[in-house]
Formats: sequence, structure tokens, C-alpha cells
Amino acid sequence: MTAVQQTEERDAERAEWERLSARRRRLQLALWIVVVVTIVGGPFWPLLGFTVPAVTLTAVVGGFFKGRYVCGWLCPRGAFYDRVVKWVSPGRPIPEWMRNRAFRWVLLGLLMGFMVWQISLKPGDVYHWGRVFVRICIITTGLGVVLALLVHPRSWCAFCPMGTLQSAVGGKKSPLYLEKGCVECRSCEQACPMNLAIVGRENDGRLDLPDCVKCSECQLVCPKGLLHY
Ligand code: SF4
Ligand code: SF4
Repeated sequence: MTAVQQTEERDAERAEWERLSARRRRLQLALWIVVVVTIVGGPFWPLLGFTVPAVTLTAVVGGFFKGRYVCGWLCPRGAFYDRVVKWVSPGRPIPEWMRNRAFRWVLLGLLMGFMVWQISLKPGDVYHWGRVFVRICIITTGLGVVLALLVHPRSWCAFCPMGTLQSAVGGKKSPLYLEKGCVECRSCEQACPMNLAIVGRENDGRLDLPDCVKCSECQLVCPKGLLHY
């Protein structure tokens, strides 16, 4: 391939990443409203709480095909952190203990246990189910906002039970590859909404990032265009 062809190919790739990034931004700007409506309206209209199992089901099914893609593109809470809370977060590094596997599975078990126990109090009442989901949404989103204000916009996403399930069932799907030639400017890591460590993590070019939300932001900012799916 000639140098001109290589440049043309790079330009075409960059145009595609820019298109994807703009599409994701538009989607998220519409989606974050869902979490606000659920939290504000849920105490009055409990059926709004069913947005919680709907998103969870989408995440788990999507996880089998594309890992944490749903976290990056379709999760209303992720959109809320990316598009709203980000502006008031100090953006400190997410501590490693928040990504610890054991911690994440314990939290997943506790949250599921709490949900099943609460629903078992009135299993035949669909409005009660809705109230339980709204309560869970308020507690977890509130915790996520506090962590965002203290640490990083997506601190919650580092250990979100939905994210843990997706990375468990499909964390190895659609991996990112890093070509040779990295100048270690770390622009990719600065742009990563999940605050993932990317540089020096490749094995034969392949990056093992089970919590990657497939947002393409790193691809877009890499001055050398070295990151690919
Ligand atoms: S590694 Fe890249 S694609 Fe994955 S979450 Fe971070 S910025 Fe997005
Ligand atoms: S942005 Fe590109 S060149 Fe810079 S550290 Fe990341 S992969 Fe390497």
C-alpha cells in the first residue's frame, strides 16, 4: 500500500470514528433524561421503575455479543454521568479497589439479595415491584453521583453490578488492538470515560480490557490512529 493510500485509509477511519462519537453523544443526550424521570417520577408512578429491569435485561443480552457496549451507548445512568455529572466531577483516577473482582461480585450478590427480599414482601403486587426498582435506582444513582462529585464521573460504573455481568459474559468480545508505534502520549487514557489504563497493556497487540464500553473516544484522539477493533 502506498503512503497516499495509507493516508486516505486513516482519514476514512477517522471520519467513521467521528461519526460514531457524534451518534453516541446524541443518543446519550436523549437517554440521561430516562434516569431523571425514573427518580423524580417513580415515587408517584411506580411503574416507571420497570425501566430498571428493562435496562438490565438489555445489558445482559447485549453483553453476550459486545461486552460492555450497552454501558457506553444505551445505559441512561452512564449517559447521565457522561453528559451531565461529568461537568461537576474533579475527574480523579478511579481507585483500583473499585475495580476489584471480588468486591464487585459481593456487591452484585448483595444488590440481588436486597431486590429479591424486597420483592418477596409483596410478590403479587406489580406496583410494589415498581417501587422496589425505583428505590434501587435512587440509592445506586445517588451513590454514583456522590462518588462522581468526589472522584470520577464513572466511579460507579467501575463496580456497577450490570457492568460486572456484562464484562463477565462478554468482556473478551470485540477487543481493542493497539498497533506498534505508540508514542505514549496517553491522550487515549485521558479521553477514556472509564479511566482505563491502555498504554503498555497490549499482548500481541490485543488489549485485554473487559470494562471497555466500546465508545471509540480513544480511537478518535490517538494522534497516530493506532487503536482498532
Ligand atoms: S478503551 Fe477506548 S473504547 Fe474502551 S472505554 Fe476507553 S475510550 Fe472507550
Ligand atoms: S493516544 Fe495513541 S499514541 Fe498516544 S498513548 Fe494512546 S495509543 Fe499511544
